[in-house]
Amino acid sequence: MERLGGRIALVTGASRGIGRGIARRLALEGAAVAVNFRSDQEGAELVVREITEAGGTAISAQGDVAVAEDVSRLVDTVTKQLGGLHILVNNAGVASDMLTVRLSEAEWDRVLDTDLKGAFLTTKVALRPMMRQRYGRIINIASVVAFTGNAGQSSYAAAKAGLVGLTKSVAREVATRGITANVVAPGLIDTAMTESLSEEIRTWMLDQVPMERAGSVEDVAAAVAFLASVEASYITGHVLKVDGGMVMV
Ligand code: NAP
Repeated sequence: MERLGGRIALVTGASRGIGRGIARRLALEGAAVAVNFRSDQEGAELVVREITEAGGTAISAQGDVAVAEDVSRLVDTVTKQLGGLHILVNNAGVASDMLTVRLSEAEWDRVLDTDLKGAFLTTKVALRPMMRQRYGRIINIASVVAFTGNAGQSSYAAAKAGLVGLTKSVAREVATRGITANVVAPGLIDTAMTESLSEEIRTWMLDQVPMERAGSVEDVAAAVAFLASVEASYITGHVLKVDGGMVMV
């Protein structure tokens, strides 16, 4: 399966979880992949090793997506070391589970800066090479809570809903330039982010999933790989839910 042969991809927050799964899948399909991380260098280098040992091409690339200077350096490193940038996957994300009345301004800012501003900063810089080459794929990882809200996740749901608006706006701005921008919205996926959920909350969430199971990182990665491919050329501004039927809107 070499749908992405010759393409260069940057996956933010790829040192573990869904980002790791996306990086591995894009590489398996032939893309050269930059595995971004903020602090977990060991995790990112392990992902790079997994990819290269499987015959793929990958580099690790440090950078906090919430910091503009980091993002400029990150995109610069990727384009210089790998030779361009065709696919940007904004996956880096944090959550802060807290009822709104108790949520501090600092926590609100941390979530919004990473999950929403981060995607704006990377998109802004990545669009330059994409517009020059008249080809690009931007895939933003949101969440189904963007559509439903979630008690105790107001900052996270607001950031992810904002990400949907950002994606649709960018999709309209660059639609004639061979660049698409889409959202993948996962439901409940087994990763470190969901490991800390209490059994009670997990059961409550699973009760809402018609397939009666959590999704895997591979389920999400497969959707991203499709949107990153030429096969998805006429799809832009779309939200693809990967949630076992949890939210049907
Ligand atoms: P995770 O296991 O906690 O991994 C998050 C990744 O993001 C890590 O690699 C982390 O790297 C990186 N990261 C965090 N802040 C960053 C920053 N400022 N700059 C660069 N990298 C940063 O999370 P996950 O479950 O895989 O989630 C991945 C994405 O899917 C997130 O956007 C999340 O909101 C979304 N999502 C997840 C689920 C789910 O059920 N798991 C459901 C819906 C949506 P460092 O450790 O180096 O900071």
